[in-house]
Amino acid sequence: MMNEKVINYIESITRKRSPLLKEMEHFAEENNVPIMELVGIEALLGILSIQQPSRILEIGTAIGYSALRMAEALPGTEITTIERDEERFGAAKDYLTRSEHGSRIHALFGDALELQEEVKKHGPYDAIFIDAAKGQYQKFFDLYSTMLTKDGVVYSDNVLFKGLVAEEEVEQKRIRNLVKKLKKYNEWLMNHEEYETSILPVGDGIAISRKRGNKSEQA
Ligand code: SAH
Ligand code: MG
Repeated sequence: MMNEKVINYIESITRKRSPLLKEMEHFAEENNVPIMELVGIEALLGILSIQQPSRILEIGTAIGYSALRMAEALPGTEITTIERDEERFGAAKDYLTRSEHGSRIHALFGDALELQEEVKKHGPYDAIFIDAAKGQYQKFFDLYSTMLTKDGVVYSDNVLFKGLVAEEEVEQKRIRNLVKKLKKYNEWLMNHEEYETSILPVGDGIAISRKRGNKSEQA
């Protein structure tokens, strides 16, 4: 992972966010909502702006921060996003109505493992962003990668989990279990026959998985 000095440096030269986004960052900090780290989201937005997806599916809305940042960075893009926590969903709804970009975001309330019918209606998706319960990444991937377009990309956040995936020993049992599951996911993803994956050690670690067998590879 990048060291703190470098992270602070990048943050110091990053473009200023709107008052609404700053308010959300503050709310997240105060209420321990794990929104994406600044440098991580900036990197993701950079890649998404190259990919130019028409539709994005996000699993894990929280208060709508990453969804709004994506909507703002990609002016024509429609975003469908899922959250199962009622309080966070309520906060997200409020923030989304306060933004001029909120109208391109469909926020769905419920467990992502149970919403496939509804999610399918808004698809197919050029990008899927998995940022929810770490123990279920593979399930999310299997369920929703079927809704990807031909050149679709799956982005998975938190795959390095504060660097814990690289530790030999993890004290706390609950954390140890999560680390185990994430490592299993990472290895499964890296060996997936249908996807080409790279892991960016930025933010909390972002995996980028692109479908194999596209034109660019056959050339
Ligand atoms: N993407 C957000 C942060 C998401 S935090 C941002 O960067 O702004 C992860 C969220 O996923 C939490 O709010 C949690 O309630 C939600 N979540 C976890 N498992 C879920 C599931 N199975 N279905 C729907 N939401 C889930
Ligand atoms: Mg995350």
